[in-house]
Amino acid sequence: MKNYEVSKDGYYGEFGGSYIPEILHKVVYDLQEQYEAIMNSKDFKEEFHALLKDYVGRPSPLYYASRLSEKYGCKIYLKREDLNHTGAHKINNSLGQILLAKKMGKTRIICETGAGQHGVATATACALMNLPCVVYMGATDVERQKPNVERMKMLGATVVPVQSGNKTLKDACNEAIRDWCCNPRDTFYIIGSTMGPHPYPEMVARMQSVISEEIKWQIKEKEGRDYPDYLMACIGGGSNAAGTIYHYKGDERVNIVLAEAGGLGVETGETAASLNIGTVGILHGSKMYVMQTEDGQIIEPYSISAGLDYPGVGPMHCQMFKDGRSKVLPITDQEALDAAFELTKLEGIIPALESAHALALLPRMKDKFKKDDVVVLTVSGRGDKDMQTYLKHIKN
Ligand SMILES: *Cc1c(COP(=O)(O)O)cnc(C)c1O
Repeated sequence: MKNYEVSKDGYYGEFGGSYIPEILHKVVYDLQEQYEAIMNSKDFKEEFHALLKDYVGRPSPLYYASRLSEKYGCKIYLKREDLNHTGAHKINNSLGQILLAKKMGKTRIICETGAGQHGVATATACALMNLPCVVYMGATDVERQKPNVERMKMLGATVVPVQSGNKTLKDACNEAIRDWCCNPRDTFYIIGSTMGPHPYPEMVARMQSVISEEIKWQIKEKEGRDYPDYLMACIGGGSNAAGTIYHYKGDERVNIVLAEAGGLGVETGETAASLNIGTVGILHGSKMYVMQTEDGQIIEPYSISAGLDYPGVGPMHCQMFKDGRSKVLPITDQEALDAAFELTKLEGIIPALESAHALALLPRMKDKFKKDDVVVLTVSGRGDKDMQTYLKHIKN
């Protein structure tokens, strides 16, 4: 049975690795050499867990959604990452990485952000640890995620709007990498998803693996067994999905079904469904499925959801998808909107637009569910930041 563990040089099967410019070799190598020892140290574990508990508010609840369950004919539990401090799963990773940065003696933090959740989480961690923070964010996203931009500023971060490409997440990553190349000695780049050069994809997955660690005992408490029949999550770069499945990757009893952003539909070209339409390429330091033309130019992604608007997917997910271990369905903007309004109506929970893509898997999978099937679906974030978009689409 395959466990999808990372190899020493950062590969999950054929995907991953570390394709970086010469100038970053030393800083990335140092991180590769040190991250495991630091993460395994007693000191780090204690500090990280204390923060997750008392600052983030973990464990996040595993909530039995009875009305949703009734509608879809199975037992649906929601893993409530939306209830974390700052409103999404991103804070787990930002706190872990900032502890690592401090232990490595770094004095300046940079990051990229799409929906702004990773920017807010990192700005929060920087305020807490008294470190300066620069957030790169596509100018389009600065517009559509205003409340998060204001939060980052109030938290003391410098937000740099990026004007290249279609001014979204990919372009913000490019700019953050450029900054890192200029300041490799003192700067730590906190990447917000399971992407980037080795060791980032594995490091981020491990920071987020607290999600599946909790699911294990929470589902045991509720159902008397420590695994569900289905795990579901949305997938942008892949971090909340990686955290959700981490302890179940090799457990074939568990079906893994993920949602990527279909945009207006994969056949329209206006999409961010990198696994379903991508081909093997290299983006931001890692070999993965990338949306690209035949001669390797990146195709600009499109999704209503800023957090899923990325033309690649982390390497672990690429290998799992290729092997058929995970099923990844493209979900359209409209399906996600419908799912968001449905959850709000049935359960009184307004999800982030990203998470709404995961919820839209339920109608797609309805015919497969049996009455006693246990489904655990991660609600990666809350919808406050998306109210502007929701209000535009509300039907009375
Ligand atoms: C960033 C974000 C995502 C997408 O990123 P992953 O790394 O794929 O998890 C999903 N949901 C929310 C709420 C986010 O903020």
